[in-house]
Amino acid sequence: MKHDFVHESRPGRVVFAVGARTRLPEEIDHLGLNNLMVVCTPGQADLAAELTSPLGDKVAELYPHATMHVPVAVASKGIARSREIDADGCIAIGGGSAIGLAKAIAKDTGLPIIALPTTYAGSEMTTVWGLTNAGRKTTGRDPRVLPVTVVYDPQLTVTLPPALSVTSGMNALAHSAEALYAPDCSPITALIAAESARAIASALPRLVADPRDIDARSDALYGAWLAGSALGSTTMSLHHKLCHILGGTFDLPHAETHTAVLPHVLAVNLPAASTARTALETALGTTEPSVHLFHLAQDLGAEMSLKALGMPEDGLQTVIDQTIAAPYANPTPVAEADLHHLLGNALLGAAPTTRPGASQ
Ligand code: NAD
Repeated sequence: MKHDFVHESRPGRVVFAVGARTRLPEEIDHLGLNNLMVVCTPGQADLAAELTSPLGDKVAELYPHATMHVPVAVASKGIARSREIDADGCIAIGGGSAIGLAKAIAKDTGLPIIALPTTYAGSEMTTVWGLTNAGRKTTGRDPRVLPVTVVYDPQLTVTLPPALSVTSGMNALAHSAEALYAPDCSPITALIAAESARAIASALPRLVADPRDIDARSDALYGAWLAGSALGSTTMSLHHKLCHILGGTFDLPHAETHTAVLPHVLAVNLPAASTARTALETALGTTEPSVHLFHLAQDLGAEMSLKALGMPEDGLQTVIDQTIAAPYANPTPVAEADLHHLLGNALLGAAPTTRPGASQ
């Protein structure tokens, strides 16, 4: 086999264990931080207060104002507040929304982020930031937004409701799947992505059967860590592009949107990405990864219709126009008719199919 690749490892310290949350004070000491801003969503304020209480007066402020897709106004207020209190670091407790706000603050201020993830979104392993303004989501990369320390404690995910656990897990699987066919996927990233897909797909049915199954939670979070690492090392393709547009334009829920879209994008892309397809077939134990993932998510209770998630039927052309307007990486060119076909299926929650007459 002829190898030809560039691989860049991201810096960052990862502490992973059941009960790892109790190690937060020593991690903060290790970094020498003394005046911290703690960022979370309103719903996780109590948890954030409990997890950071051992830090005592090193916590300058608990800031429970994170919301999904990081609206610019929310980011601006958070940045201003971090300056007012003269924070020297930002602890993000929660899912991608909390980590997203911490990233927006770090992008402007350079504050180091310490993340305690409670979902499988994987943002904590990437240099990608996102901001939403007037229905448009903008993303970019900046090494300053990559958390310096990530404390993964599977016990923090036990309260994640089964439905959100499934869709968040599918969000992570989307990172792994798109990393496998990314133009800059290196051999090490391919190993990480395939192992991630295996771990998540095996964990999801177990944690739905028993949301307190700590081994299943551990496997899912381990897979999410790997998925985030794979996402952080590669260029995103059609799936992430579509989900950014859908989320930003119609304010659709992030993980649920990824779940409804992923099988349809894989139905289009995998025929043109044989190495990725083989890796996913092995990881998932199937010869039809796209159909398999559709039924896995649906059988575990996920909503597979974008319409049911809040997408207006007449919004399809807006998404298609925005997708075509800015170029993106993808293993195969996707015609407007392909986008109509795959988004039409996703809108209705139908199983993925190949468009009649499609070139593949
Ligand atoms: P989220 O952070 O919005 O969390 C969803 C809801 O679940 C919130 O109300 C939250 O309070 C609650 N929640 C989180 N963890 C919980 C737990 N353990 N128990 C009970 N409730 C819990 O959702 P998300 O899917 O994690 O993140 C979505 C956001 O992250 C989007 O804005 C997306 O764009 C961003 N994201 C960014 C990247 C990146 O690399 N930049 C990667 C993935 C996602």
